[in-house]
Amino acid sequence: MRILIRILFFILLSISTIAQSAKYGIVVHGGAGVIKNLPPDKEKEYISKLSEAIEAGYKILESGGSSLDAVTKAINILEDSPLFNAGKGAVLTENGIAELDASIMDGKTLMAGAVAGVHHVKNPINLARLIMEKSPHVMMIGNGAEEFGKLFNIELVDSSYFITNERWNQYLKMKQEYEKKDVEKHGTVGAVALDKYGNLAAGTSTGGMMMKKFGRVGDSPIIGAGTYANNNTCAVSGTGHGEYFIRLGIARDISSLMEYKNLSLSDAVKEVINKLTQIGGTGGVIAIDKSGNIAITFNTDGMFRGYLLSDEKINIKIYKEE
Ligand code: ASP
Repeated sequence: MRILIRILFFILLSISTIAQSAKYGIVVHGGAGVIKNLPPDKEKEYISKLSEAIEAGYKILESGGSSLDAVTKAINILEDSPLFNAGKGAVLTENGIAELDASIMDGKTLMAGAVAGVHHVKNPINLARLIMEKSPHVMMIGNGAEEFGKLFNIELVDSSYFITNERWNQYLKMKQEYEKKDVEKHGTVGAVALDKYGNLAAGTSTGGMMMKKFGRVGDSPIIGAGTYANNNTCAVSGTGHGEYFIRLGIARDISSLMEYKNLSLSDAVKEVINKLTQIGGTGGVIAIDKSGNIAITFNTDGMFRGYLLSDEKINIKIYKEE
């Protein structure tokens, strides 16, 4: 009998080992745009916050946690940091308030959750995840989304929580100079991850574009535009001029090129970012495929970005590589 139990134990052990993929890892971004020559202390702050997010997500993966948990955790850390355009420190709309969007997708089930235009949710990615897990819907907006979150005790804050001094001054300055076309502001955050069980997940969270009209929704909460994950292909999170990402369905297009045309992740990403450039869109994506290959591509001066894959060292960069 004892021998039988032992044999059974070894069989079970080997099955769970087989189910684990050799590679796992996480890629994170903190927005793309006109990012040049930051003062050294600012650079340090960005690098340290990005590495905190990457390491926290990686720790979850390393200990056998899910890619969804890793993505959520990494994004929470960036949402709570005033450095990025998501959660605290989000950019402001034309009428001076933070209006937040986020989405998350599970590559295993193709379930997704998204939230747009919320003003009091401390961590919009958590509400997106609640919508995915606890509602029959994919996307909810504004007050209705917040009411739904309240049912599950989502953390709500006064809308002043999001507004940092830096953003407020930036807002006042831009208000004066407004009508200048060039009102792009980077800092959206996103993460993609592959866990030990071969499951992919992607998430994105943002305040949107500086000086956006209230009610404007960008690509970040739109599944297929700013976020997509499918275990058969890849997980993608984008950042940039959302209207272009929506028109091209950037994130889903990358997955489709892999699925229908058998392109590698890096070829699919290159092709889609080339298209983005051709139609005058700016931005970039981070992506990871089911084998743990990653792609990070952008057509702007810089993109806050970094990754940590199993058995590799953490890698963080800000500027375009010459
Ligand atoms: N994609 C975001 C939006 O258009 C902004 C950004 O990524 O910087 O709302």
